[in-house]
Amino acid sequence: MVRFKYYPPLFINNLIFLTLTGLFLLFLEFMGAKAWTWIMERVSLDVFVIVIGFTFYLLIFWGVGVPYLLLDRFKKPYSLYKYKIQDIPEERRRKSPKVPLSKAIARVLANQFLGTLPFLTGLFYFMVKLGYTVNVAIPSWWVALLQLAGLILIEDVLFFAAHHTMHRKYFFKKIHRVHHEYRESIAIATHYVHFVEHIVGNLIPVFAGVLLLQPHPFVVLFWIMIVVINALHTHSGYAFPWMAYSVHHDWHHYHVNGSFSAIGLMDQLFGTDKAFNKAKEEYKKKN
Ligand SMILES: [Zn+2]
Repeated sequence: MVRFKYYPPLFINNLIFLTLTGLFLLFLEFMGAKAWTWIMERVSLDVFVIVIGFTFYLLIFWGVGVPYLLLDRFKKPYSLYKYKIQDIPEERRRKSPKVPLSKAIARVLANQFLGTLPFLTGLFYFMVKLGYTVNVAIPSWWVALLQLAGLILIEDVLFFAAHHTMHRKYFFKKIHRVHHEYRESIAIATHYVHFVEHIVGNLIPVFAGVLLLQPHPFVVLFWIMIVVINALHTHSGYAFPWMAYSVHHDWHHYHVNGSFSAIGLMDQLFGTDKAFNKAKEEYKKKN
């Protein structure tokens, strides 16, 4: 039986995200308007959102994803590797069945180029039809903060709904089974999903808030950055204290049930984290 290290949530969890958000809000407040004028003098809005937006997303995904892969591969530096959540003897880990990395990378790239890129393009032109223009105002820091909070909330509600549905027998067998080929997840497995799940479970929850709130493209880029980093980390199998709490999603991959939410909020609301909390308490008593 695999033992989980049930790291408790810490005060410093999300330190990275809080720091990044602070820096982004400062940038928006003091340089946002100037930077936006500078960019719009050089590229059109569609080039900025689709070409630069998609490239930025790829750079973030692989720029953060590859170091996680290297950490898995070399198990060094130990100061980071020690935060591995599933406590499996290395011998057993080596022997356990694995998704070949080349197969995982191929599926992730297919989802990115055949899923994310057309989705982002379609969404952008739909928003332009609704009146989204280069003149969308640079928001003040508190409006941007509220928009980000709204995006997080909308994502958690829709991700929970989609993920919970995917665990119904029919959808699990046809679709979500692919994602659960990883019993001990790795970072890039966040996009190792059936194509339908990539649209319904990954893209719609992330971009529904963009359609509803129509934030400035700078806010959209920042949102993409934090949501991608968070998705990679919560699938990484590590519980770095300075990152978002990731133990519940790792537990979900191992047990293939419960803890469906992205940030835990909806699980608390619907009580779908009961089994996880019970196991956590038992672990605490024993250790
Ligand atoms: Zn699942």
